[in-house]
Amino acid sequence: MNAPLTPFLDTSDFPDLQALTDGFATQRQASRAQTDVPLAWRRERLTRLLSLIDTHGPALAQAVQADFGVRSEALTEVADFFVLRATIGQLLRQLPKWMKPQRVGTPIYLQPAHAYIQRQPLGVVGVIGPWNYPLQLTLGPLAAAWAAGNRVMMKPSELTPRTSALLAELLHQHFDRADVQVVLGGADVAQAFADLPFDHLFFTGSTLVGRKVAQAAARNLTPTTLELGGKSPCIVDASCDLSEAAVKILHGKLLNGGQTCIAPDYIFVPKGQEAALEQALRAALVRLFGTSPVGHPDYASIATDRHHQRLQTLLDEARSLGAEVRELCEADRGGVSAHPRQFAPVLVLQPPAESRLMQEEIFGPILPVLSYERFEDVVAYINARPRPLALYWFGKDQAACQRVLHHTVSGGVTVNDTLMHIAHKGLPFGGVGDSGWGAYHGEIGFLRFTHQKGVFVQSPWALGHWFYPPYGKRLAQLLSVLRRLM
Ligand code: NAD
Repeated sequence: MNAPLTPFLDTSDFPDLQALTDGFATQRQASRAQTDVPLAWRRERLTRLLSLIDTHGPALAQAVQADFGVRSEALTEVADFFVLRATIGQLLRQLPKWMKPQRVGTPIYLQPAHAYIQRQPLGVVGVIGPWNYPLQLTLGPLAAAWAAGNRVMMKPSELTPRTSALLAELLHQHFDRADVQVVLGGADVAQAFADLPFDHLFFTGSTLVGRKVAQAAARNLTPTTLELGGKSPCIVDASCDLSEAAVKILHGKLLNGGQTCIAPDYIFVPKGQEAALEQALRAALVRLFGTSPVGHPDYASIATDRHHQRLQTLLDEARSLGAEVRELCEADRGGVSAHPRQFAPVLVLQPPAESRLMQEEIFGPILPVLSYERFEDVVAYINARPRPLALYWFGKDQAACQRVLHHTVSGGVTVNDTLMHIAHKGLPFGGVGDSGWGAYHGEIGFLRFTHQKGVFVQSPWALGHWFYPPYGKRLAQLLSVLRRLM
């Protein structure tokens, strides 16, 4: 008897649910009808996706800009399209190699058999995306999942409605729904989406929602990748060139208005260097945005009024708990046309550990600064908290750098810069612990969406029958010889 495809979905929840389950059934059928997905199928879809980006990139970037308020098209070009082009280019080049069966050596007691790993598509992959990089974080997983030969259903964020609607329109116009389907809607739709019995569910978003996704997926035994958030520390070592570091720290912090999962969340600075760091950060701000980012077209606004209000609340609470707030520029530009949601960057000196600012991922241009005297205290602070998605270290002292790398655990690390580990196609990108599980990018991303099937091919000259009962002296002698060879 066939089990129902969607056992945990109650179709009375909302009217479009039938369309959702029908869409899933179409993809599942297509994936089961073609388990061996040829290179040409994969390449053709990736190439078409690339040309969709080339043709409709400007319209998509305008949609992102309209959703945010201020989000320059150049930023979307760099942070979304450039990354996507690099990803797809690598997939197209490397696919023939990555798809090949991987020969593995055979231990002496199994010879002369041979064995290999067959790389197969998983089937139907669900992708749930966030709003902050709404194109990179939906189309990137789509490309990797297609490269691995899967069908993909995607639920982009409701907080970038124009972008998500255009994405749905374009993907449905250019591709068959058996290959990709976009499902639009808010948290209720997302919840129903996560209840579908995907062969893999790839989620990018907050740790809070990630927990719900993991629970929903567990009911179907659906494996997940959770790309979550967290508080990524940035350690300034005493051996650091402050003015060089300040530009890189501020660039990482202010990119997309601070709304980047791997933005440096807070800084550790050696005691006594606080004033020098503040001065270097002020100079860095001028270098990046002139007199002020507020009113600058390259400084993204906070995505919604609710998120803007939350940042203000975090700041007010830290101030009320005794932290010193230092404006890095004037929030009121007196006549210069600024978007009301462009949040002026601020430093918050020594915020208390119990403040929301130091408890929650900030996701905005507020930069807490904590002083330290001993390296051990920095490590103890980091290790007492949930494992971060990223960690940054600035300095010249290689031994100190190695100590941090060996004594902390984070999703990824960039030394003497911020963000850059995400851009390296050879590095796995993902979190650990509360910042997520599973990684993607490059071959690791291809394997994330691939079943690695072990295949053992027996030889006609195999001696396997020597291990069969009835057991006796011959087996004992054989085991004694093999024991010496192992
Ligand atoms: P979010 O968790 O609020 O939403 C993400 C997606 O989940 C949206 O599409 C939403 O509709 C959906 N969703 C909401 N409720 C759901 C439910 N019950 N079940 C299934 N899906 C549900 O995150 P956000 O605000 O869009 O994004 C910001 C967060 O994402 C930050 O924490 C940031 O650090 C993180 N993030 C992580 C990465 C990464 O690669 N690790 C990248 C970007 C953003």
